[in-house]
Amino acid sequence: MKNFEAPSRRSFLKTLAVAGVAAGAGALTGCGSAAKATTAQSDITWDLETEVLVCGYGAAGASCAIEAADNGAKVLIIEKAALPGGSMARCGGAIMGAPTRVQSELGITDTAEGLYNWVKTCVNEKYELCPDDIIKTFSLEAGPNVDWLEAMCTEYCGRDLFEVAKAVENSGAAGAKQSGGGNGVTSGCLNATGCEYEKFGLTLEEAIPRSHWAKSGAANSGPELFEPMYENINSKVGEGTVTVQFKTALSRFIQDDSGAVIGVIAKTEAGDINIKATKGVMLGTGGFPASDEMKMRFCQEALAYKTYMCYDCEGDGILAAMGIGADLYNMPNYYPIPVAQVYSFDPKYNKVFNSWLNMDDEGFMEVPAMNMAEFHGGVRINTDAQVLDIDGNPIPHLYASGCDTGTNIFGVPSNYPGCGTYVSFSLAFGRIAGRKMANEVVA
Ligand SMILES: Cc1cc2nc3c(=O)[nH]c(=O)nc-3n(C[C@H](O)[C@H](O)[C@H](O)COP(=O)(O)OP(=O)(O)OC[C@H]3O[C@@H](n4cnc5c(N)ncnc54)[C@H](O)[C@@H]3O)c2cc1C
Repeated sequence: MKNFEAPSRRSFLKTLAVAGVAAGAGALTGCGSAAKATTAQSDITWDLETEVLVCGYGAAGASCAIEAADNGAKVLIIEKAALPGGSMARCGGAIMGAPTRVQSELGITDTAEGLYNWVKTCVNEKYELCPDDIIKTFSLEAGPNVDWLEAMCTEYCGRDLFEVAKAVENSGAAGAKQSGGGNGVTSGCLNATGCEYEKFGLTLEEAIPRSHWAKSGAANSGPELFEPMYENINSKVGEGTVTVQFKTALSRFIQDDSGAVIGVIAKTEAGDINIKATKGVMLGTGGFPASDEMKMRFCQEALAYKTYMCYDCEGDGILAAMGIGADLYNMPNYYPIPVAQVYSFDPKYNKVFNSWLNMDDEGFMEVPAMNMAEFHGGVRINTDAQVLDIDGNPIPHLYASGCDTGTNIFGVPSNYPGCGTYVSFSLAFGRIAGRKMANEVVA
């Protein structure tokens, strides 16, 4: 069964007329000015139609798509790049969570409440950077999500995700730098790393290991961590419940008269298309680490840094959400990486997942000095992953997770809760969004 109608021959002139300047140039590069695209539904020529539209095929998008499809929705993923994965498939390979099956097998007693207390201590130490209910929701989801991914790996990849026997000693903030240095100390392990634990009154021995590192023959295991979701989605594509369209970039939202998001305008090589989504739209476009224009607007200090994050993440989703009145949060925080690093991945994934930064044939990715990772700012969401407007009201049918959000648990860099936080948060609210949209009753 087909998931959505095949692209019809369309009238770009008509589309532009109904969407005003919304489809104007510049959105792909993050340079476009945001404009509201509200129009009568009957005036729109729809090129594609689906129930759940997921923008971005990285951590947030993939988890959302799987959850929506597993809950019975027909899903279309649009991805700006030619290959999937985003930053997640080139990450160090850690996902945080508690309590998990791996912790239990290693005899580590842990609870969601313990994770909540830890994240709250780190993130809200100085400022109320993340609403308490978001931290609570995250903490309840994080452990089950690690187990979910582990089971998915067994089912869809036929291998173990984690190398349980290879637990190592906790290694604090320095350990995080080492993992980026590609010396392989973390691949396959469960440990406490990536946080200045002492700052919060804990010795390394006392810190509870919650960073689960995927197993890999290479030093870094982002591809292995992402692969279960990739194979799951491939299987759903085969069944016809999920469709993926690459080289297709969210540009602007289309709303009905009530303000509900009913679709998007997306850029393709053939021109702009209108995509209808009856149950909702997911923002998972990975924030704005690769956009100097966005840095200029929100965080000029970061202009001194290049990024090691996915080069396709230029703030398109955040701009589109701004265009329909989404509120922003925590925009000036980002994660600087002053020292040069080398990441090393299994080269068999070179042509499977997106890459940038001169990935060589042997899977080495060099990160020059004066680099940066995520911006920690983006749209405000609630515990249902709904995007909020400036009055705190949900924008109907619009959801977000990952680096497109600003109400997250990333904190300021020196207060980062530990390795695996980004992926874990992205999956938590990605899955929540997928579930919510799938269960939306369409009139
Ligand atoms: C080298 C490196 C190491 C890291 N190590 C870790 C780690 O060990 N643990 C951890 O938790 N985090 C780590 N991170 C961070 C983590 O990978 C990201 O924070 C996480 O992937 C963010 O998820 P996301 O879904 O928001 O973005 P992504 O995973 O980047 O996905 C965003 C996707 O959206 C696509 N996109 C962009 N614009 C559009 C558009 N307009 N329309 C459609 N698609 C679009 C992008 O191409 C991309 O595929 C690391 C990152 C890097 C680069």
